[in-house]
Order: sequence, then structure tokens, then C-alpha cells
Amino acid sequence: MSRYSYWYSAVWACSLLWCAQLAWAEEPRANLARLGDGGAVVSDAGGHVELTVPLSRSVPWRVHTLDGPPRLIVDFSEVLWDAPPDVRSGSVLAVSAGVYRPGWSRLVMVLGEPLAVDVAEMRVLDDGSAVLQMRLVPTTAEDFRAATGVVPEELRQLDVVPPAASGRVRIALDPGHGGIDPGAQDGGLREADLMLAFARQLKEVLLRTDRFEVVMTRSADVFVPLEARMTLARAAGADVFLSLHADALAEEDGMASGMTVYTLADAVTDQAALRLAERHAQNDILAGVDLAGVEDEIAMVLMDLTRRETRPRSEALANTLVAGFRSYELVVNSNPSRHGGFSVLKAAEVPSVLIELGFLSSAKDRARLVSQDWSARATEAIRDALLQWADEDYLMRQGLMK
Ligand SMILES: [Zn+2]
Repeated sequence: MSRYSYWYSAVWACSLLWCAQLAWAEEPRANLARLGDGGAVVSDAGGHVELTVPLSRSVPWRVHTLDGPPRLIVDFSEVLWDAPPDVRSGSVLAVSAGVYRPGWSRLVMVLGEPLAVDVAEMRVLDDGSAVLQMRLVPTTAEDFRAATGVVPEELRQLDVVPPAASGRVRIALDPGHGGIDPGAQDGGLREADLMLAFARQLKEVLLRTDRFEVVMTRSADVFVPLEARMTLARAAGADVFLSLHADALAEEDGMASGMTVYTLADAVTDQAALRLAERHAQNDILAGVDLAGVEDEIAMVLMDLTRRETRPRSEALANTLVAGFRSYELVVNSNPSRHGGFSVLKAAEVPSVLIELGFLSSAKDRARLVSQDWSARATEAIRDALLQWADEDYLMRQGLMK
């Protein structure tokens, strides 16, 4: 029975050929199952680890594991994850839960030791409610690795959209974080929410010029892995990629505030930038994304060549943005043009920048981020900078300007 349930759940993996396009989908559907009394609990019981998830009704679900670090991932269809799991196990380092795809919630357990799924079943109770119960038993690192199953990720073949026939410049807006990954949180604000609201506003402002088309890497509170954001933008034929963030900085990075624009660098020496990039990659791990992607060497060389042409275009965009922020009298960071190893900036052929609109760790920035006057000026500054950059970039590529 237990084995059957486990493999039954794996069948759902096949139905999970969720194309990346789903990230464009609008708000998640209503009529979700809810967590039952007591919520999800992870506990130690006589040499094994138990996971219990009570639900208001049974839902499709699936389980798989990932290595580096060892993680157990449980996906549920249509569950409203409104309370964090209660962790009472010494074998589990961290647990996160939240929306992963529209209609799908994910629970990720970062394991302190290799554990194997021994029993996994969803039981339907007499009153129509259900409970998912899972028993995990210690295993060897070798066996754990052999059993890891990578569910097909969103990084798969996408239809590539031809360049805009309209002559408009296609802008990809990438609101940072979302779903299971809330981003920075401070003063009652979540980076994921702020960035989605800002991106929606920016989209309207850009469309009003009639010079731009806009695609969003997410338009709801859903999780999109870092690599997938870039893939989505590329598949949508984006001419420019703008990633929007308002992270919190660690104390050792000082009381930084103000707007900062990041472009990609090979060797990053800026400690704050290193930590920011690391934290974003860490969020992907906590959301259960497999980062062990292996790129082949020839592809890497070709990408580097393309990147060499794209880099000055990204740099020019970053400089134009910073000048635009200043002309709208927005507060910019004391060192506003920086380099970082952010993986969302790695699209070789698309000029890409990451804008830290402010830092949630700064009270002054928080006040600005929720101010309508500030966001009106910030969106207009970005619009003007994009208009200027698009014209100059066109002339430069035609060889009419240096
Ligand atoms: Zn961020």
C-alpha cells in the first residue's frame, strides 16, 4: 500500500508538465483545500521522522527528493498554505512551504541527514477531510543520491517568439521572488508583494508610451526559479530584462539605502553583492529547485562571446537608469552602479540589469517603497531611461553613434 501510494504520487509528476507559460497565468484559482487543525507537523518518532499534513479534503500530491543539500519535496495541488509547518525533528534543518505554481503548493524539507521515504499515503477520513502521512527512515548518502528524482523543471523547450514586428521594444519585467519565496521581509512588508505591485505599475507606465511591449516573468504571487525567469524572457523575445528587487542587507554591509543598479560581472569583489546573489540562489534551494545543472563547454564558450557584445549595452542601460533616478530626485545609493553574479542576469544575448529599488532593511527606504509619490517618480524615471537607452542603443548598433 505504502509503496503503491508513493509511486501513485509519482504519476502526478507526469501530469506536472507545467510549462513555464503558467508563470504568466493570473491569480490562483479559488476553492483551495485548507490545512486542517494543528497544521503540518514534522516530528521524530522512534528512530524515524514523521510528516503529517491534515487537509480539509484530499488533493493530488507527489513527493520527490533532491540532493545538494538533501531535500524532500512534497507538492500539493490546490492547497492554501496559510500556516508554516511545525518542525520538531532533529533530522530536519529547515522547512518552507508556499505557492510554487498557480494551483500548486510546495513543502520543502532541508534534511540534516539522508532520509528515505518509507511510507507515504494520503488517507481520506469519514468526514471527507484527509491526511497525508509520511514516514522517513535513515539511509546512506549513496542510496539517497541514487533515489533522487528530479521532476521535470520548467527549463524545457519553449516556443520562441519572433521579434516585435511593431518596432516596439519588448521589455521583460521580473518582479523578484514570489510564492514559496517571499524575499526580504521587514516592517510588515514582503519584497515579493512590493515588487509585483511595482512591476504592474511600471508595466502600465511603459505601455502608455506606445513604444514598448511588456512581458512579466510572473504576474501573480507564484514562485518562479531564477533560471526560469531568464528562460521565460528569452522565449518571449525580450529585448531588455529588468529584474526588480528590494532586498535586506546584512548588518556587516552597513546601513545601505537608496537605489542601486546591478549588471553582471565575471569576478565579483563587492561583498554585499556576493551575499545578495548567494541569498537569491539559496531561496531557490529552499524552494526545492535542483541547481545541479550541467552546461556543456561549447555552449559556454558561445555564450561568453555573445555576452561580450551584450555587456556594454547592459552597462549603458545601468548608467542611463542611474542618471534617470537622479534627474527625478530619487535617492540613489552612494555607490549606485554595481556588479553582481546574479543568475537572472546571465542571459547572454539580452541586455539585463537588476534594480534594487531600495533596501527593506532601511526604514527610510521602506517608507519610500510604499509611497505613491515615490513609486510614480520611480516608474517614470525608469520609463524615461528606457526611452533614452532604446534610442541610443539603436543608433549604436547601426554604427551611427559611439
Ligand atoms: Zn530580492
